[in-house]
Amino acid sequence: MAFEFFTIKDLPKNIKVTPENKCTLCKHSICCTYVTQQLETPRSMMDYDYLLWLVSHRNVSVFQDDDGWFLSAANPCLHLQPDGGCGIYEKRPQICREHSNDCCEFDGPAEEDYKKYFDSYESLDKYCRKKFKKWDKRFKKREKKGNEK
Ligand code: SF4
Ligand code: SF4
Repeated sequence: MAFEFFTIKDLPKNIKVTPENKCTLCKHSICCTYVTQQLETPRSMMDYDYLLWLVSHRNVSVFQDDDGWFLSAANPCLHLQPDGGCGIYEKRPQICREHSNDCCEFDGPAEEDYKKYFDSYESLDKYCRKKFKKWDKRFKKREKKGNEK
């Protein structure tokens, strides 16, 4: 699922963006509209099968960038105000305080920089079918192993 919010590229050309006014111009406060969590690097068919389960959930995607694999859940923070402000600004978590607007989500869709990005069961399943010749046999292999115990 691509982010649907507008970015710096959509602003009128006469507006000069500075580090000081950037967050004010970013009306949707994009960085407050999703969470990410690092995942273990998938290697086996069952690792990818697990990712299939993740992306089968509404608004969940997985991606790989220079830092590894991540789950992303597009789900706005409950403290995000209609005007884009933070409802708990003075008491906001540390991760919010450390987030820099230097090269952030407002500059462009984050997925443009991803090495791999899967936002649906279909897109990941298609990838897995290319990556693993025996993709459809992964369950049989596991069932056989279980019966041998
Ligand atoms: S850090 Fe970036 S994405 Fe977050 S509010 Fe500021 S400009 Fe928007
Ligand atoms: S706590 Fe405030 S700054 Fe942090 S994500 Fe929520 S709205 Fe944004």
